[in-house]
Amino acid sequence: MTRSGTDGLGIRGRGRETVEQKAHRLLVTGAVRAVDVAETGALVVVAGDTGRYEVELSPGRSTCSCPATVARCSHVIAAELIARLPDSEDAA
Ligand SMILES: [Zn+2]
Repeated sequence: MTRSGTDGLGIRGRGRETVEQKAHRLLVTGAVRAVDVAETGALVVVAGDTGRYEVELSPGRSTCSCPATVARCSHVIAAELIARLPDSEDAA
């Protein structure tokens, strides 16, 4: 076996990792766990590098407890991926 790690995700080097790439990394490492998923939203817990963050997904509005100031941090994107909301494109 010559492959190791990313399994085709195409992540080369960590310096320019995008939030979407980080979201995928969180997913494949098992850091994302859906606590509650319903039609009206979802509660997801993400174990980040520096702490555990809670993401609340609801139609048109998602929030995360991490200190990031961006509207959609990697935790929110990872939560959307694991909750499989119709909003997110399934690239699998
Ligand atoms: Zn976050």
